[in-house]
Amino acid sequence: MIRSSYVYGPVPSRRLGLSLGVSIIPRKTCTIDCVYCQCGRTTRRTLKREPFYPVEDIVEQVRQAVATHELDFITFSGEGEPTLNSDIGRLIRRFKAEFRVPVAVITNSTLMTDPAVRRALYRADLVVPSLDAADQATFRKVNRAHQGLVVEDIIQSLVTFRRHFRGRMWLEVMLVRDVNDAPAHVVKLRQAAWRIRPDRVHLNTVVRPPAESWAGPLDRDDLEQVRVLFGPGTEIADSALRRAKRRTGQDPERAIYELVRNRPVTFADMERSLGIDPRLLKPALGRLLKQRRVRRVRFWGKEFFEPPGA
Ligand code: SF4
Repeated sequence: MIRSSYVYGPVPSRRLGLSLGVSIIPRKTCTIDCVYCQCGRTTRRTLKREPFYPVEDIVEQVRQAVATHELDFITFSGEGEPTLNSDIGRLIRRFKAEFRVPVAVITNSTLMTDPAVRRALYRADLVVPSLDAADQATFRKVNRAHQGLVVEDIIQSLVTFRRHFRGRMWLEVMLVRDVNDAPAHVVKLRQAAWRIRPDRVHLNTVVRPPAESWAGPLDRDDLEQVRVLFGPGTEIADSALRRAKRRTGQDPERAIYELVRNRPVTFADMERSLGIDPRLLKPALGRLLKQRRVRRVRFWGKEFFEPPGA
C-alpha cells in the first residue's frame, strides 16, 4: 500500500525549530485511544507492529523535502503511534546517514516495553515520550489503553530507556480536567517523572478540539501549581510557545495550510508558530477560508482552524 504523502511539514514548531513531520502509520492506528486526541477516536487499536509502507517510498519523499528546506529536525509523529511501524529503526538510520539532520520521535511510550522498540529509538537524537497516567485506573480513563498494556511496565521501560539513551529526552504530560489531575495522581506522576529522569518535562493540557467533547483543559493556575510540584526542568507548553523565534520570508497561505494540516490551531497559534506579520496572516487566512481549503471550528469558546474533513 502506498500513501500519497508521508511528509507533513516542514512545520515551524515552537520547540523543534523547522521540523519535517513524517507519518509512517495509517491514520489513527494507535495502541491507545486518548480522550484528548486532536485527531479523533482511534479507529484501529493494536499492539501489532508492521512495516505498513515501503521504506524507499518514505525515504524518497523525505529526500525531496530535505533538498528544499533547511531543517532543524526530521520528526516521526502523525495521527497514531509511530513505533507501531516495525521499520522505524531502519528509517532513523537511513535518515541520519543520508540527510545529516537530527531525528526526533514523538511516541506515546506504550511500546517502549518491547526491547526492539527501545533499540530502534536509541539511534534518535531526541525522544519525546508521553506519560499521562501513573496508575492503571487512570491509564484506562485518560488513554483508554489496549488491554495488553500495563502502565507500571511502561514507566519501568522508560527508566531503562533513559539509562542507556545518549540523546535528549523530553517527557510530555497531558493533563485533562477531572480525568488525571487529582492531586494524589499528580503526585504519582511526579514520582514517575523523577524515576525516569528526562532532560525536561513538558506539561500540556487540552487546547485543541479533543476526541471527546467532555475532555476539558486545566486553567493556568492549576498548571502552574503542577509545574511547581514537578520541580526544576518542568515547563508549561504555553511558556515554551512564547519563546518561539519569529521566522520571516514564508508564503503565508502555504505556511498556514501546512500548519493546519498537522493539527487544529487558533489564530494566535498561527501568529506564534509562523512568526508572520498578522497584517499578512489575516488576509491569507481569509483567502484559504474562502477557497474552502481551511474551515473554522469552535471548542471551549475558542476558534480553531483545520482542513475541511479533518
Ligand atoms: S493522542 Fe497520540 S497516542 Fe493518543 S490516541 Fe491520539 S495519536 Fe494515539
